Amino acid sequence: MTTSNDEPPDRRLHVGPALSRLNLYDLAPAQLQKTLGEIVFPPFRVKQIVQWMHHRGVDAFDAMNNLPKELRAKLAERFTLEFPHVLERTAPASDGSQKYLFVLPDGNRIESVYMPMRDRTSICLSSQAGCAVGCTFCVTGFFGAGRNLTPSEMVGQFFIVQREHDVPLELMNVVFMGMGEPLLNMENLVPTLDMLYTNVAPKRVTVSTSGIIPGIDELAKLDRRPNLAVSINAPDRKRREEIMPITKKYPLDALMAALHRYPTDRGREVTIEYVLLAGYNDSPADAAALARLIHGLRAKVNAIPFNEDPNLPKWMQRPTDEAIDDFVDALVESGAHVTVRRSKGREIAAACGQLRGKTERKLPQRRVDRALRTEPAEIERDVVHRERR
Ligand code: SF4
Repeated sequence: MTTSNDEPPDRRLHVGPALSRLNLYDLAPAQLQKTLGEIVFPPFRVKQIVQWMHHRGVDAFDAMNNLPKELRAKLAERFTLEFPHVLERTAPASDGSQKYLFVLPDGNRIESVYMPMRDRTSICLSSQAGCAVGCTFCVTGFFGAGRNLTPSEMVGQFFIVQREHDVPLELMNVVFMGMGEPLLNMENLVPTLDMLYTNVAPKRVTVSTSGIIPGIDELAKLDRRPNLAVSINAPDRKRREEIMPITKKYPLDALMAALHRYPTDRGREVTIEYVLLAGYNDSPADAAALARLIHGLRAKVNAIPFNEDPNLPKWMQRPTDEAIDDFVDALVESGAHVTVRRSKGREIAAACGQLRGKTERKLPQRRVDRALRTEPAEIERDVVHRERR
């Protein structure tokens, strides 16, 4: 299946802020070529504009200095290249990671994370301003639903962080593990992926979901598929329903069937994200049950010790290092491929929504103890890989 390149641009714009001028970054590559081709002559000028956008990430027509002034003025009359604006950035953590808080034209705030690693650099992007899924261990879920982000708002996060750190595009990884459920924003996610693929191969892009089965199946049909990460967090349906209400709509057994359907060709694996909550889902018996659950799936487990946050229920605690080791050892002994994020997230409030949560704590809140929510949105840094010895 191809992407939604042929769709009219306004289909992707209805969720965003009302803009009088079309943001060219809201168009998938084929639609951009078509739109520009109707008003820009000669045709090589279209190619130049696309180069400035998709290879350089410029957000002003005046920066396109190989275009005639008149053409730049004409473009600016009809279109915009607006990106989100940086409201705040944390100081770099000891591992160099840095979190960004952006403000959107309608006042919504979203987060991204820059994560330098030894050989490559990852950027964690938000896909929604808020999240209606309501995972009980997640600060974003705690603050509730927002709106879908437009392609320009997603690709804008990418280019702003990439340019600020001057990261070579060929060394970039992209993970959609920030605020929001990307598979509930498919209409904007697909053109965003197409734009990102100009610089970042699909195998370097990961989309993380709480388990939206129709979205997984839709993603599976794309010609250029990203990697898939799924937030599981409990080895059985009962506990998963307690901490992830979405499971009532998309039950664990149906989700596992969808994961078995997802193509994992060319050596790729599905990532099983598992937030470790002390005394709740972190026992060696839970690890063995998780290993049984994913048996036969080409998958690796990413164990993520919970990041505590004042907005989240007090009973949710990070396990001790010893408990984390016992859990991982039991998984490894069961034959699973495991990575552990020994997060330094507390340094930069790295869990999804925590930086925004810091700035919104004075707003009226729902009852904190009603349940909690997590953060699948941590990052591929400080990762310990474990396999059977
Ligand atoms: S973990 Fe992800 S899907 Fe769940 S509430 Fe948070 S942002 Fe939404």
